[in-house]
Amino acid sequence: MHCKTFHKKKIVIVFTACLLMMMVLGGRLIYLMVFESEYYQKLAKDLHERERSIKAARGRIVDRTGTILADNRTVCTISVIHSQIKDPEAVIAMLCKELGLSEETVRRRVEKVSSIERIKSNVDKEIGDAIRAYQYPGVKVDEDFKRYYPFNELASKVLGFTGSDNQGIIGLEVKYDEYLEGIPGTILTLTDARGVEIENAKEERVESVPGNDLVVSLDYNIQLYAQQEALKVMEAKEADYVSILILNPQNGEIYACVNVPEFNLNDPFTLTTIENTEQMSEQEKQDALNQMWRNQCVNDTYEPGSTFKIFTSSAALMSGTSTLNDQFSCPGFKIVEDRKIRCHKVGGHGGQDFTHAIMNSCNLYIQ
Ligand SMILES: [Zn+2]
Repeated sequence: MHCKTFHKKKIVIVFTACLLMMMVLGGRLIYLMVFESEYYQKLAKDLHERERSIKAARGRIVDRTGTILADNRTVCTISVIHSQIKDPEAVIAMLCKELGLSEETVRRRVEKVSSIERIKSNVDKEIGDAIRAYQYPGVKVDEDFKRYYPFNELASKVLGFTGSDNQGIIGLEVKYDEYLEGIPGTILTLTDARGVEIENAKEERVESVPGNDLVVSLDYNIQLYAQQEALKVMEAKEADYVSILILNPQNGEIYACVNVPEFNLNDPFTLTTIENTEQMSEQEKQDALNQMWRNQCVNDTYEPGSTFKIFTSSAALMSGTSTLNDQFSCPGFKIVEDRKIRCHKVGGHGGQDFTHAIMNSCNLYIQ
């Protein structure tokens, strides 16, 4: 009797332990299937499918006459697929030689166990073609686009430039990025569990869609001419910078927008405005770059001063308040209400008529 009770107890304990274990395992199963399913599905997908993107050609920037101000150049991205490499030493030696990289850098990337490892991007097409010619398994050469500005410094602060992923950083390149950028495509390759491409498996390819061209009102010739004139003035006046904005007064179209010194759009991260950059902190360098890229025509205010006299004097003539023969005497200042308006000529211009007041740009007469 005593013995039976003991067995019963034992059975209950074992049964309870089993039940608990089943519950824990069941719970874990539910957790994996319900809450973590996305994560594991993604892992499996990553293992079996290798996705490479095809860059879209960015839209060009064209002036009113059809001159291309921003274009694309074909460059290559070199990558390696670890599981496909048959002779790693030969691959490392070849990549070092062709790309001019250190053996350490190349070895680290070639020997890394990953589905695809990028070695270098923005490689010249000739070098990419040379690498492809070796026909080493596991070495991928993908063609790609790099922004190129045929006139280097022309309208640099207006056009702006793009970053390493071809996204606009300043100027028109960033303002119209969504129209210029296009839609990248993808190449999807199926692989087995070891990451080896399945032969004859269908390669899914979604072609990229090129971006739209942007036609601007700038005129290449007027822009170039204005830039030359601005450089002359900057040198003659020893100015820090000179801006010229040329518009069509009928409709406001901008023919030229010059801000010298301009910078080279094909090399925008090299500071040309400061001679000694070695002592500068990263923040100081970035501030100096922002200053170098700054479009003064757009970002700075400028008091019109004497140029505005054309409007006030025209208004005076049109309304009949003044005639060309009106006589006026300038003693160098005039009290109007509570303030004293001074002429730029301290001693005054003396007696003068309307025409001479304009010629002398006399502050008292015109304003
Ligand atoms: Zn005066």
